[in-house]
Amino acid sequence: MQFDILTIFPEFFRGPLDHGIVRRACEGGLIEIKVHDLRAYARDRHRTVDDRPFGGGEGMVLKPEPIFECIETLSVLPRAERIKNSAKQTVVVLSAQGQKFDQRLARNFAALERIVLICGRYEGVDERVSDFLADRELSIGDYVLSGGEIGAALIVDATTRLIPGAVGNEASTRQESFGAQVQESKTAGPDSTCGSGGLLDYPHYTRPAEFRGMTVPDVLVSGNHDQIRRWRRRTAMEKTLRNRPDLLESVPLSDEDRKLLAQLRDEDLKKDYDHVEPSDRQVARKEQTN
Ligand code: SAM
Repeated sequence: MQFDILTIFPEFFRGPLDHGIVRRACEGGLIEIKVHDLRAYARDRHRTVDDRPFGGGEGMVLKPEPIFECIETLSVLPRAERIKNSAKQTVVVLSAQGQKFDQRLARNFAALERIVLICGRYEGVDERVSDFLADRELSIGDYVLSGGEIGAALIVDATTRLIPGAVGNEASTRQESFGAQVQESKTAGPDSTCGSGGLLDYPHYTRPAEFRGMTVPDVLVSGNHDQIRRWRRRTAMEKTLRNRPDLLESVPLSDEDRKLLAQLRDEDLKKDYDHVEPSDRQVARKEQTN
């Protein structure tokens, strides 16, 4: 997989992509990240990449010529070829006006061979880039950032960790928040894990079992895999109900999930949790397991 990032601040990428999974993926040859300085494609001696907006108004706009010329040197497929479903390349403009980038899209991207990311700055990018050069505009959330660089780094990270071989234990990427499958046990022995199936992940704890008087839920140290799995499913649903109830509308739920959800709604946990201290949440979670 090759990522090409077009930016007027190439030095931005020296830090964020030099750690952990992304770094290992680069070192292992699983991905290649090429950062292209748009100023190198500016024609004048001041290396101008922006200009005032037609029609007046605030700020500056990134000019189309350096972006078109940079992409033309990359030998990507023509746009008409790329937007066919089977094409393994895509050219993206980072924009607050774009379609929201999410885990589903990250999964699709992980199957591609080449992703070109165009980072805007100032008031944005000349619209002809979106209209005639790129395949899509992507936003990383409903807020306005100063530039597309953080979004580009985010897309590289979220995509890379879903490429087979990037994460040591691949099953873990299927089980975490927004994961596709509900349940997937690859182990021969008893399994206490529980895939999120599009919901949020369940809470995680590690040693020590007691820290400053705060204990981990008894069920997690019980050794009873079945109970642990049920507790995890319940707390994942509870967290989703509290923090992201919108997800519950769009994921397939089993009959058992639906019963659990009805129970949680009955207990009106969402309302309670908005008003309780984190320590009391732990007590509540403990009570649920008894
Ligand atoms: N005038 C634009 C608007 O209101 O939609 C905002 C431009 S913003 C200050 C400059 C650049 O930051 C954009 O061209 C885009 O590349 C990037 N950017 C800002 N917010 C973003 C977001 N939520 N997702 C992705 N990129 C974003």
